[in-house]
Amino acid sequence: MKSPKSKKIKISERRRFISLVTQSIGITALGGFIWSGYLQEAKATPLILRPPGALKEDDFLKTCIKCGLCAEACKNRSSNPDQTHQTSTLIMAKPGDGMPMGTPYFIPRSIPCTMCEDIPCVEACPSGSLDKNLLIDMAKNRTKMDINKAKMGVAMIDPHACIAYWGIQCDACFRACPLLNTAITLELKKNDRTGKHAMLLPFVHADACTGCGLCEHACVTEKAAIRVLPVEVALGKAGDRYIKGWDKADENRLEGVSTKTTTQTKRSAKNPTDYLNEGVSYE
Ligand code: SF4
Ligand code: SF4
Repeated sequence: MKSPKSKKIKISERRRFISLVTQSIGITALGGFIWSGYLQEAKATPLILRPPGALKEDDFLKTCIKCGLCAEACKNRSSNPDQTHQTSTLIMAKPGDGMPMGTPYFIPRSIPCTMCEDIPCVEACPSGSLDKNLLIDMAKNRTKMDINKAKMGVAMIDPHACIAYWGIQCDACFRACPLLNTAITLELKKNDRTGKHAMLLPFVHADACTGCGLCEHACVTEKAAIRVLPVEVALGKAGDRYIKGWDKADENRLEGVSTKTTTQTKRSAKNPTDYLNEGVSYE
């Protein structure tokens, strides 16, 4: 017969075993939870804005080593106009941000890119995810980076929320833009509602806009009426089927293209004006 002491040891071992199993299940579940969160956040939101010179999103995610050196370089330069807890333009995504974890991004309404001329974030990047070559104007034989070549996004105006489109005078975005009168111009239009006033409407030129977000930050409406979106999200594409007849280079695409119609359907054999007017009487 076993002594009461040995029985006691057995019970405590069982407890320890159960406790270990429970802990392991807990750790596994927690690990799974974190991992599923990571996987969810590993997929970039289509609305993320990256630092200047960032590669295309897929390549950026493959190459960024999440060292944070760009954000560190940025921290020393950006101001914090709103005195929020955030201290620099670039933030490294953390769990719950809904962005791929550990990668740099910025929120222009909080702190826009201040367009440093020497672009320290790009200089600091060791992996090439922020690519200097994307900021050098090779066509003009330049060798130095130019922040005005950045394509962090494109500003889009919501004419329903922009008070200039209501006829109220406002040019806050226009004045905030570092590419004054180039990335945003003011277009003069008659106010049809009053019939006698002029309206000065901000108009964004996507080819010049760098996506710095200084306009979005300066916008006076409660929720910005001008907002920066990633280029792929903001811009449409007409496609190759349309040719600009007034643009010689574009029109050259027609060279060698046959204008002979090859489609032969029952209907196209007839003149459309005949079959569309069949049975129509003009009396
Ligand atoms: S260029 Fe913009 S993102 Fe880069 S360091 Fe300056 S403020 Fe930060
Ligand atoms: S994001 Fe706004 S402020 Fe910056 S370049 Fe474009 S239009 Fe100008």
